[in-house]
Amino acid sequence: MAQIPLNEKFDAIYIDRESLGSDLAQRVFEIFPKEMIQVVDETPLKNLRGPLSPKEFSKSKRRLFVTPFKGHFFKRCPGSRPGLMCCNYYVLNWGLQCDMNCSYCYLQSFINSPLLTLYSNLDQAIEELKTIGKDFSNQKLRVGTGETVDSLSLDELTLYSRKLINLFKDYPQWILEFKSKSDRVDQFLDCEHAGNVVVSWSVNPEAVISAEEHLTASLEQRLKAAEKCLKKEFQVAFHMDPMIYHENWQSNYAQLVDEITSRFQPEQVNVISIGALRFQPEQRHMMKERFSKDSWVNQSEVFRSRDGKLRYDSELRTEMYKYVLDRFQKHSKDWKIFLCMETPETWLGAEKSNPHGDEKLKELFKPIKMPTKETQPDLQ
Ligand code: SF4
Repeated sequence: MAQIPLNEKFDAIYIDRESLGSDLAQRVFEIFPKEMIQVVDETPLKNLRGPLSPKEFSKSKRRLFVTPFKGHFFKRCPGSRPGLMCCNYYVLNWGLQCDMNCSYCYLQSFINSPLLTLYSNLDQAIEELKTIGKDFSNQKLRVGTGETVDSLSLDELTLYSRKLINLFKDYPQWILEFKSKSDRVDQFLDCEHAGNVVVSWSVNPEAVISAEEHLTASLEQRLKAAEKCLKKEFQVAFHMDPMIYHENWQSNYAQLVDEITSRFQPEQVNVISIGALRFQPEQRHMMKERFSKDSWVNQSEVFRSRDGKLRYDSELRTEMYKYVLDRFQKHSKDWKIFLCMETPETWLGAEKSNPHGDEKLKELFKPIKMPTKETQPDLQ
């Protein structure tokens, strides 16, 4: 199932009265028919809050709610939890829920709202960043978007990429990362930037995309979007994540590596991260009910790892990572590859890609001083 055009993505739209003056609300009124939009004084469908049924979870993707976020926008990447290695990362979530529909999506483990929420007050996040910038303007911070909403799939509506790219022009030593499975980039390609914006795609073989990543862009569309970004001198990265085991995984992942290496040069790609299927045990029932029993994800044999997530056994994970690493290295030793959201044992299994042993990646993983409670903006 391919991507849906923006004007067909929702069945109902609710706008919080507090958001009415926002740019986002204005865009919603411009793009969608008035009959679809309701202005509300409180969160709609409150009766459906709490653990959602699989059916309600699916419906939530087609009900848009525009509201201000009440709280701090910035928090550390979940990879910084004990037991995982990670890379000094701030996460900016400007909404909750995704309009696309991947069988393994981790949102299925915790979303308990019947709505796809987009926050109307990105300007507040920008103010928080500016406050952080006062004390940390010379530090290398990375700000990633795309954890609880895809960075770009609804960007034609929000245009948040443009606001952030503009802000990051003032902080050339910081890095802004968009992460997407869509190909929506045209809305920001004309923005002037400081060369510090990384547009990244989660990539998988087309067979995996068709089987497991519903309503996303095809591999060809994602790679074409990356080529467009490169032309405008944005940095580009790929996340081969989550790798999904299936009968023809070797030939399909070999083809994927060959496709990337034939279209891009190592120096054009900021980094390639690799990860394998992982999900929370509590989302399994949701996946089983929402997707076919023939789904490779639903058929996967997975085991609880130290961080509580279900993963393939470590031997298979290491085999998959090594296979892809070797394939990249056959093309060139210069590809910058690392394993994301992995346990230290797996890093040791695929030693070559441990960032602490790789000069090219050391800089990215160097610990930096994080803002303390005192220096965090208090905007609540
Ligand atoms: S694109 Fe990401 S957030 Fe959206 S459904 Fe797929 S995994 Fe979930």
